[in-house]
Amino acid sequence: MFAKLIVDIANSNVDRLFTYSIPEELDVREGHRVLVPFGRSNKPTEGFVVEICAEYDTGFEVKDVIRTMEPYPALLPDQVELAKWIARAYHCTLCDALRLMLPAQLRGSRVKEKTVRTVCIAEGADTERIRASLLKKDGSARSPKQLEVFDLLTKVGTPMSVSDLNSYIPMASAAVAALIKKGCVTEQGFVTFRSPFTNNVERDTAPELTADQRKAVDSINEGKAGEVFLLHGVTGSGKTEVYLNAIQRALDAGGGAIVLVPEISLTPQTTDRFRRRFGDTVAVMHSHLSVGERYDEWRRLRLGKARVVVGARSAVFAPIEDLKLIIIDEEHEPSYRSESVPTYSTDEVAIRRVRLTGAKLVLGSATPQLISYLRAKQGAYKLLTLPERINGIPMPEVEIVDMRSEFMSGNTSIFSRELAKKLTKCVAEGEQAILFLNRRGYSYHGECRACGFVFTCPHCDVAMTYHKFDGSLRCHYCGYSTKVPAVCPSCGSKYIKYSGVGTQQVEEQLKKLIPGVRCLRMDTDTTGGKTSHRDILDSFARGEADVLIGTQMVAKGLDIPDVTLVGVVFADASLFHSDYRSGERTFQLLTQVAGRAGRAVSDDGPKKGRVVVQTNAPEHRAVRLAAEHDYRTFFDLEINDRLRTLFPPFAVFARALFECADEKRAAALAEEFARKAEETVAGALKKHGAENELLFVSYGAAPIRKRDNLFRYAVILKLARTKHTSDAVSALWALSDNCNTDGFRGVEINPNDML
Ligand code: ADP
Ligand code: ZN
Ligand code: ZN
Repeated sequence: MFAKLIVDIANSNVDRLFTYSIPEELDVREGHRVLVPFGRSNKPTEGFVVEICAEYDTGFEVKDVIRTMEPYPALLPDQVELAKWIARAYHCTLCDALRLMLPAQLRGSRVKEKTVRTVCIAEGADTERIRASLLKKDGSARSPKQLEVFDLLTKVGTPMSVSDLNSYIPMASAAVAALIKKGCVTEQGFVTFRSPFTNNVERDTAPELTADQRKAVDSINEGKAGEVFLLHGVTGSGKTEVYLNAIQRALDAGGGAIVLVPEISLTPQTTDRFRRRFGDTVAVMHSHLSVGERYDEWRRLRLGKARVVVGARSAVFAPIEDLKLIIIDEEHEPSYRSESVPTYSTDEVAIRRVRLTGAKLVLGSATPQLISYLRAKQGAYKLLTLPERINGIPMPEVEIVDMRSEFMSGNTSIFSRELAKKLTKCVAEGEQAILFLNRRGYSYHGECRACGFVFTCPHCDVAMTYHKFDGSLRCHYCGYSTKVPAVCPSCGSKYIKYSGVGTQQVEEQLKKLIPGVRCLRMDTDTTGGKTSHRDILDSFARGEADVLIGTQMVAKGLDIPDVTLVGVVFADASLFHSDYRSGERTFQLLTQVAGRAGRAVSDDGPKKGRVVVQTNAPEHRAVRLAAEHDYRTFFDLEINDRLRTLFPPFAVFARALFECADEKRAAALAEEFARKAEETVAGALKKHGAENELLFVSYGAAPIRKRDNLFRYAVILKLARTKHTSDAVSALWALSDNCNTDGFRGVEINPNDML
């Protein structure tokens, strides 16, 4: 038998199948990782077996597979197929695609199984004679420690782990070693799984579903193999309970399920909800696991000891045999798109995977991506709706405050009169509030009031952020920092203003507004550590603070019943970002944040949630319609605009980037690439008589013109999305593969941001 394999070297020169013969004594199947002699020097190299065949007929000599890396195939057949599709769809090597499916440290055996050392009294040992030998003539112990260990092991009678032993008898290791040497104690070991879970959870049972939930669960259960569902449910409508029920069904049928949540909401609160329902069959996969935990969670899934995985984006590749269901919660989150090669979209990968396996896919959100809702309307996805909150809890009442008129009437505080009044009342009544803002740090940037000079990073050409705690100005792109100057470097004036609002400033003003208020702050500056994010949320959930102040992080998935007030301090930051999706993002964000308010039911009925949105753009439809909880109208207006102006989902953007120390060179390279790209893509479309589908080609300095001392120039192509698009994109990729210039950063299709 022969194995066709991809060597584990991410280089496009070796991105093809190599054939090796399989020695009789080796069990090699599709999906196995194997070691093979590779290249002229026959260097032992790891490879992925993607095909087994009985015959091999070219004249070349074939070498033997040396050995398998794991006793079982590390890759499932559907993962191999999925990788092939990814390599085609996202234009990467098959090796890169296959690597997505495995814990990185598996390669090169950089992570090992953990064995627990155990010891027990040697079988058939004459315990009385041994004990006597451990005593001196006068009856005292020759070595008290050895005697103590021996007595304990005799009493216990069964193997004990060395670490347990050590906890009873401090520093027993040397005594254990001595006893082993004497032959009275023997050593064993067993393989364990390192667990990321630090707490035990109590199991719960499913509540009675509401009629809407029942309908959704039934539709999913009755769905066809490969079917995609869009679960559009307002915040607090019980989407998670729908997922849990559908997963139960998958488990009952002997299969498994993948649950994806945005990394930011992968808190223990979220995973615990799944563990409470399904116990030890739940594994987790996310970036905060240690290397050993990641490997062992992967192994638990691969070996079938766990059948449900809750994880971030990359868990879509989890090794689950007999996969029945994939769930993508908060499917609109930008983090579902990978930023590194291959730049895949998780929903596209999931669609492919359910088609390959016959599983079903559920996309859930209160604010679906426009493209998802469009597909649902067109019938490609089945739409399921949960229009109401659980337990008859009303949607929160949202009030929009125009901050311009607040300012005109003399209020220069960051809190409008309305928000100040509501905050004071909320805290006085012992309820909790969340204050949300879209920025971090004390203030945004430093600006001279006299001449308008803005402090920008000398390496990146972007405004630097002022950090009050150490009086520094920092660049978030390259990490450059500098002390705040006393006078303006341009005009010498000492009136430098640090404009913008940050979480620290909100905290200070809040303490002035409500003396004695207890607040917690959560932003990327306070949540650096592994547990601090959890600590802050736990502490807030326990009621140890009245107000939680935070950035994006507080918007996601929080379910704290006593929160009755949410204040959006400044709702404009994301609106005027130069991105066509900023309206959509703002709508999503406001809906999410508002959804944190008023989720509780007390004895006298549901507590009403209130939201105050402060903005300079009260008439903007993203603000207005989010306040009215009107997704459908927002969708209709937004999608019509996208169609009229030909923006995604009706168009596709491609961007090529050049970064050079010499600005002229960067510009010249971009210009040349733009010319070739236009020619190539137009040529490809012309074959279909569709040249007009290339909507435009432009080139010039990127919005961040300089970063890390490199000048950045971009070429942007816009294509109408039609059945010819993939041909046009392939032509562009061929061009990019042949572009070997220094400073070329590749072509990206529909990048998450164009900065
Ligand atoms: P969503 O994910 O849509 O925001 P959740 O699934 O978190 O909503 O549900 C909101 C709250 O309602 C949770 O506390 C959940 O336990 C509760 N819940 C969900 N479904 C039911 C039900 N059928 N009966 C009672 N409580 C429910
Ligand atoms: Zn100045
Ligand atoms: Zn910089």
